[in-house]
Amino acid sequence: MVDSSRLRALDLDALARGVGELSGQVEPAELPRLWSDLDLSGPTPQALAWRARLQWRHRPEQPSQLWLDLSARAQLPLTCQRCLAPVVQDLDIERSFRFVESEDVAQAQDDESEEDLLVHEDRFDLLELIEDELLLSLPLVPLHERCPQPLVTQIPKPDDRVHPFAALARLKKTD
Ligand SMILES: [Zn+2]
Repeated sequence: MVDSSRLRALDLDALARGVGELSGQVEPAELPRLWSDLDLSGPTPQALAWRARLQWRHRPEQPSQLWLDLSARAQLPLTCQRCLAPVVQDLDIERSFRFVESEDVAQAQDDESEEDLLVHEDRFDLLELIEDELLLSLPLVPLHERCPQPLVTQIPKPDDRVHPFAALARLKKTD
């Protein structure tokens, strides 16, 4: 298991020279932007599994390119927008990225590249990338296929309202 602090400052070159592949699990609570989108009224969200493979792709008479293949799998509780109860959303992402040397190069090449581009930094934050990709893959309007309980009306029944005179009457009785 790779600890999270290392994943937030990965040495890409060292990793690409070595095993080239990392995998592990991360608790959703370690991804604060994702965590704030979750419905925490039900069971605690489970750890999500991820795998990252880094490799140089060599091309004849051209500079080699560093690529990252990322996959992640998660089951995250979101709030159903119909019944407001938690709905567990399966996410299964698989993405490939190519590293470029700077933000300028990324912007210049972005339109013509089919793949997604990342800027090659000395210390690369892999958890932030995983979090970004999970956030992008969340449904805009989470819904149960079929809601587990009848819809709850949001209008309180008259009996639920506080009745000031009834409260006063009760106070008088205790005298
Ligand atoms: Zn629902």
